[in-house]
Amino acid sequence: MFRKILIANRGEIAVRIIRACREMEIYTVAVYSEGDRDSLHAYMADEAVCIGAANPQDSYLNMHSIINTAVLKQVEAIHPGFGFLSENPEFAKLCEDCNITFIGPSSHCISLLGDKSRAKETMKAAGIPTIPGSDGLISDVDEGIAIANEIGYPVLIKATAGGGGRGIKIVNNDAELKNAFIIAKNEASAFFGNGGLYIEKYLENTRHVEFQIFGDKFGNYVHLGERDCSLQRRNQKIMEESPSPALSPELRERMGETAVKAAQAVGYYNTGTVEFLLDQDKNFYFMEMNTRIQVEHPVTEMVTGIDLIKEQICVAAGRKLSFSQEDVNFRGFSIEARICAEDPEKGFMPTTGKIEYLHIPNGMGIRFDSHIYQGYKIPIYYDSMLGKLIVLGSTRKDALRKLRSALSELVIEGVTTNIDFLSNLLNEPEVVSGRYNTNFINKVLVRNSGIS
Ligand code: ADP
Ligand code: ADP
Ligand code: MG
Repeated sequence: MFRKILIANRGEIAVRIIRACREMEIYTVAVYSEGDRDSLHAYMADEAVCIGAANPQDSYLNMHSIINTAVLKQVEAIHPGFGFLSENPEFAKLCEDCNITFIGPSSHCISLLGDKSRAKETMKAAGIPTIPGSDGLISDVDEGIAIANEIGYPVLIKATAGGGGRGIKIVNNDAELKNAFIIAKNEASAFFGNGGLYIEKYLENTRHVEFQIFGDKFGNYVHLGERDCSLQRRNQKIMEESPSPALSPELRERMGETAVKAAQAVGYYNTGTVEFLLDQDKNFYFMEMNTRIQVEHPVTEMVTGIDLIKEQICVAAGRKLSFSQEDVNFRGFSIEARICAEDPEKGFMPTTGKIEYLHIPNGMGIRFDSHIYQGYKIPIYYDSMLGKLIVLGSTRKDALRKLRSALSELVIEGVTTNIDFLSNLLNEPEVVSGRYNTNFINKVLVRNSGIS
């Protein structure tokens, strides 16, 4: 096992990884930016090194600064968390070249799957159902228009290097496509450093159902069930649950097998998530694969009892998977709510401030993964997520009640958050019954604003 690991991230996921390392008696090195001097992950790690200015480009995305720190501190492995460099094949390759284990899949797999259009082609060739759309990237507007007319509007223009809900545009006709194409191309170049675009049919009334998979370096594969992430705002997940209210045991098995097949098709190892869209007729389509630990991974940990971060570290260290498919048992119902510093009344605009008062809920089946503390100043440079409140109940109804109760107990003063918005969401009849799709929050917002 590794003696020392560097965590190339910040916020709650860095804290989460440090906790796992401590339990495994692995020494930790945190890296932090000048904007994060007072951050919990820097305090908690055994050692902490400032790697640059607050702007992510100068610190958490600064590959050379991070690798230099790793070499200097003689770490044996780097955990990239999510976001930042976690899906950057160049960074994974740099680790490989420096003889530092990257805790994740091979750089080859990251580059293959991180390019969403290429990933889709690969999966299609492996016999996995994909969403109708362009075969690969589209080179110009005319090609886009031809494809859109073939598959029928509405269609999505997607940035092949996009992520985090960014780089997706819906268009309803030729004129809209013409306008959006140019803008999307420029934005993709600016945000993702890659202007590649592809087109996909917009599937209405679908659910986002994703499967957690795990592979080791000996060719063993398992899936750990699904998460339903259909409650989204701006194509970004806000609440996730497992099991999905939409799956029968038979469909779960079929989708799980398909997810494993997707991982096998590319010789994947470590953990990953295969994202599917599920339509009303229960047809499912591969959307993309995320080659990293996911924000909502605790939901799967709650229902399986498996520590995904520890397993990631073990598999990276060359161990065999500690469980087989038969060993994975599911118990109960788990829901996660993402607590964000944002203003739902102002289009979920990120907010900032100092946490003047904090009270964290507790109790059986309640977990709060977070990096905040009373007196903490929220830096303006990073993601607005303050933490994740996760519950485990014996039934879905029980889990809903538990989350409602825990949310009502959570107090964060000094900064505007989405706590009330989440509480209200939990009382919506569609959420209570489990009959919601990815468009649900938009519908609620339109209704509440009085626009018909
Ligand atoms: P998950 O699929 O784990 O729910 P999200 O889509 O919420 O992940 O993204 C996780 C984190 O990574 C967020 O902080 C998000 O902003 C960031 N992120 C994901 N993909 C990208 C990307 N291509 N570029 C920049 N940030 C990204
Ligand atoms: P990201 O890389 O940002 O996570 P995804 O391709 O996973 O982007 O899509 C994000 C979300 O956008 C999905 O969870 C879904 O709600 C919506 N979406 C993506 N593709 C489609 C589609 N073809 N039809 C309908 N909704 C889609
Ligand atoms: Mg996605």
